[in-house]
Amino acid sequence: MKIKQILLASRPKGLPTLDNFKTTTATLPALNTGEVLVKPIYLSVDPYMRGRMNDAKSYIPPFQVNEPIESGGVGEVVESKADQFKPGDLVMSTNTRPFLPWATASIFPAGSLRKVDSSVPPSYYLGILGMPGLTAYFGLMDIGKPKPGETVVISGAAGAVGIVVGQLAKIAGCRVVGIAGGAEKVKLLTDIFDFDAAVDYKGNRNMSGAIAAACPNGVDIYFDNVGGEISDAVIQQMNFFGRVPLCGQISLYNSTEVPIGPRVQPKMVTYSLLMQGFIVGNYASRFPEGIKYLVELVKSGKLKYNETIEEGFDQLPDALLGLFSGRNSGKMIVKV
Ligand code: NAP
Repeated sequence: MKIKQILLASRPKGLPTLDNFKTTTATLPALNTGEVLVKPIYLSVDPYMRGRMNDAKSYIPPFQVNEPIESGGVGEVVESKADQFKPGDLVMSTNTRPFLPWATASIFPAGSLRKVDSSVPPSYYLGILGMPGLTAYFGLMDIGKPKPGETVVISGAAGAVGIVVGQLAKIAGCRVVGIAGGAEKVKLLTDIFDFDAAVDYKGNRNMSGAIAAACPNGVDIYFDNVGGEISDAVIQQMNFFGRVPLCGQISLYNSTEVPIGPRVQPKMVTYSLLMQGFIVGNYASRFPEGIKYLVELVKSGKLKYNETIEEGFDQLPDALLGLFSGRNSGKMIVKV
């Protein structure tokens, strides 16, 4: 079978471009016993993938030049030589390596796949019921520890993780303030996702003033998805014993120099702040707990979600780049 695949062509310096990717064709062999042929239905693009384009040591190995990119994905079995799977089954890779290659079809050993329940939209496994939803749940609940009446500020609030954090914080009885880029996203947060207030960082020169106005009682939890100057402004407004789950720093992922900013340690000392970085994989043994919590809220309609779905395998690189200009609201996904 002939397939198309998308490889890393070169490592980007700064913001990646489409030239950092290349599309090639390959031929898949016939299946051996115990193998399964899978075509992706949805493939995810996520900010952390930018880090994998660098040749740098991290919690996950880098992509290799001239090798296929891989990401979270949900696929359909089209042929099986394994008893556990039949054509039509919806599958994902197992949690130990939860990726599908960027290829129009791939062969997997049956042991590296798991079936997924088809009673929820399959794309949800890449967003609200997948890695971003779990990130929101564990980062907020385990590190943020929200209490009723507290003020929670979220940067990257209109994205896959942020939109879930905000709603979970509302359910926990908090006042919720989102920071996002552009008037449309700010309106989405307050009108559709019931945030108490939202700040447009692209339209606001005085972020400190805008955050102070949106948070008259200061900030108790700052869920940081973006870092940089936005975070500098929020952290200065934190209350005593505030918590900062450090989830992501997307504003810095394309930096070519080590960014310099205000030192936060004096504020942290005098206000007894807790700041903790985390990777969702740290909570792998507790994923069933997180999924159960999220599934119940989604099925009862208490947790809303949105997705930006781009169409076509060839759109994968452009969709990934779109994360860095804020082209998505909610989870960015490519329907293959
Ligand atoms: P996302 O928010 O759905 O998409 C990225 C968003 O980031 C864009 O829509 C854009 O929104 C914003 N953005 C891009 N460049 C920016 C900049 N220079 N300054 C401020 N905002 C910028 O992505 P996500 O999947 O939910 O991830 C959000 C963050 O969480 C990322 O930093 C990601 O790396 C991190 N993350 C961490 C973990 C973990 O285990 N720790 C897991 C998942 C995600 P605007 O239009 O609002 O600018």
